[in-house]
Amino acid sequence: MPIKWLKKSIFVIVALVALLIPGAALAQNVLASHGDGGRHAKNVILFIGDGMGDSEITIARNYYVGANGRLNMDRLPFIGASTTYALQEANPLLTEFVTDSAASGTGWATGTKTSNGRISTTAKTDIDLPTLLELAQKSGYLTGDVSTAELTDATPAVLASHVSNRNCQGPADMGSCPQDKISAGGPGSIAEQEVAHNINVLLGGGKQRFDQLITDGKYAGKSVLESARNQGYTIATDANSLKQSNGKHVLGLFNSGNMSLEWTGTPAQPYPGSGPQTCQQNQRPANEPSLSDMTKKALDLLQNNHDNKNGFFLQVEGASIDKQDHASSPCQQIGETIAFDNAIKQGMEFARTHPDTLILVTADHGHTSQIIESPTNASQPGAFSKLITKDGSIMCVSYATAPVGASQSHTGTQVRIAAMGPDANKVMGVINQTDIFKIIKERLSLR
Ligand code: MG
Ligand code: ZN
Repeated sequence: MPIKWLKKSIFVIVALVALLIPGAALAQNVLASHGDGGRHAKNVILFIGDGMGDSEITIARNYYVGANGRLNMDRLPFIGASTTYALQEANPLLTEFVTDSAASGTGWATGTKTSNGRISTTAKTDIDLPTLLELAQKSGYLTGDVSTAELTDATPAVLASHVSNRNCQGPADMGSCPQDKISAGGPGSIAEQEVAHNINVLLGGGKQRFDQLITDGKYAGKSVLESARNQGYTIATDANSLKQSNGKHVLGLFNSGNMSLEWTGTPAQPYPGSGPQTCQQNQRPANEPSLSDMTKKALDLLQNNHDNKNGFFLQVEGASIDKQDHASSPCQQIGETIAFDNAIKQGMEFARTHPDTLILVTADHGHTSQIIESPTNASQPGAFSKLITKDGSIMCVSYATAPVGASQSHTGTQVRIAAMGPDANKVMGVINQTDIFKIIKERLSLR
């Protein structure tokens, strides 16, 4: 090749590259301004299975895919253990070994341990603690909060409210938190605070709390829902209107209380137990979206939001694993675990096409259900049920941390934490629940 021609070619290539670089940068900016996430977009999706200890995962796996099968959450590449204890309210130097969802959620939402029942406030001293969602917003991230429970239930509440008692869900529920009332100079109920936080996507149950009338302040006389409309939220109330929803702020409320369950079956019973049974699937009414539908829609709304420049922080809760464990109902519990696992699949698919996404999957505490040998006499404590699993074997599930018929108790065990994406290796080993706060804070460079 003649030197002259080579020189000419190099010149042409250099000139082309010089033209292309600003072009690419421009295209990137146009993409960013149309809500496709900027060049430095980082996303974090935190999946919380309420009460989903190792035995809840194993029970669902055994039943649904067989003992040697694998759930979506089993395919996450990094797995560690997270401790779940809380503090004692009267003396926060002492450990409360069995946490509730409020104290547990406060741990990862704020990086600070608290006592049972508290929502992102300190034990004993009742000081408001800044949350991951608040810090993410300050650093320009979009935010989302999705749950199958009432949106004002403890797990979704810890990100976007500060009250001394988890029961203070709506303006008419403030009996346990007089100091948090707006009339007392406080921030109001959990529902009011969540709306005031300008979250981009809020999806779940608990419409009854948002139908309550605000008693004081700027929106006095209006329902929380009306105040949300005034504050720029698009409202969805069923699966169809959710599908059509668009906007920078979407509030979806799909049930007056907790969202409907996916499966049904016979609860556990004292000796000789219930079953052997096969669970009835597909029980959720079609007008309520599944957790998987809500997760997919939340990801669409966040990713395509015109304000999406830096990325987002999204929390997704499978809430009724816990609630059905309390109720000694194995089929309902498994159905909610599988629904949660399907939602995780949505997150994993999103992360494959958006590799700057960190996915974390964990639980807030362990729970009652245990896989035991089938009892052979009436001295067996508690209630149990025999289930016919995927591979045709009988699995016996026991509920025995409270008297038969009473609400079963949480347990104080460590829980699984699994992850994929950048920084996923940080979950390995035994970590404290408050380390989840640090992992996300560092990942998103929050201050
Ligand atoms: Mg919960
Ligand atoms: Zn519970």
